[in-house]
Amino acid sequence: MLESAIAFRSPPARMPRTAVLPQPPTDIAATLHSIGAQLLVRGWLSANNIVFGDGPGGATVVDTGYFSHAAQTVALVEQGLQGQPLAQVVNTHLHSDHCGGNASLQRRWPDLRISVPAGYRAHLLPWDESGLSYRDTDQQCEPFVPQAFITAGDSILLGRRAWQVHAAPGHDPDAVLLFEPDSRTLISGDALWESRLAIIFPELVGEPGFDAAHQALDLIEALQPRLVLPGHGQAFSGVAAAIEASRQRLRAFAAAPLKHRQHAARALVSYHMLEHRSRPRAALIAWIARTPIFGKALQCESDPALALALATATTDRLVADGVLVQQGELIALADG
Ligand SMILES: [Zn+2]
Repeated sequence: MLESAIAFRSPPARMPRTAVLPQPPTDIAATLHSIGAQLLVRGWLSANNIVFGDGPGGATVVDTGYFSHAAQTVALVEQGLQGQPLAQVVNTHLHSDHCGGNASLQRRWPDLRISVPAGYRAHLLPWDESGLSYRDTDQQCEPFVPQAFITAGDSILLGRRAWQVHAAPGHDPDAVLLFEPDSRTLISGDALWESRLAIIFPELVGEPGFDAAHQALDLIEALQPRLVLPGHGQAFSGVAAAIEASRQRLRAFAAAPLKHRQHAARALVSYHMLEHRSRPRAALIAWIARTPIFGKALQCESDPALALALATATTDRLVADGVLVQQGELIALADG
């Protein structure tokens, strides 16, 4: 997720509601072709979808976008598969923007098998919104039932190739990344983006996460990927520069954890506004003040007056930064 969200200081002029499918550079296109993958680069709120055509494991999609985009995800996957049935969904982690299409895809293809990282098992059977972060963040995800669990050390078939499963903690303790050693292609989820850093969610609730995020970057460096298919943004091959940028950002946040918490709060409000586009100012501030993740991140859970003051300050900062705009009693996305 989103939310795994990020700073939206410079949002695109208009957040794309449809998938953006520009032609990738020739070498990236050649690698994608060789591994039988299509990268569907989605606009926020949805994570990218990586579609693999038929192979021994059947057609597969890695990550499925946000709940409110699920119909579009189904249509894009149908288009990508050109009539083949989808056999498998694999999720890098279970933030709402990465698995929100799982239930819709399984309705469309009832034999679909959903494979998720094993760390989430206790929160899925039965479905537990609190354990899955959706209650804390007040984000939506339609419940689904997984058929298989993947864990570090496993090998899974995506298309015609075997991909290694590695642990990728930091952004989320139970996340995994997927690596194909012949082409040296990495599906990084939210563990590595090209130029920004995803929220380190454990740190928002008083648990350590910065060191684990460094370890995930060390692992990626050791794998020496040639091509990264990230959870958000275009495929990229400048892996060393991306790792270094993430390390710098991590070091800065570790030195000033309050800044990370405040940054995360603003990113999560931005994410919420991407879903709602426009809300009455009072309603937005009340939502921030009562939604658990903000109380935990801003350490005001037991002080309603402080929670309201910090919710107001967070909103005002987003307006001052130009991410949100005030229109009378309404707050709207600046691009909306
Ligand atoms: Zn995430």
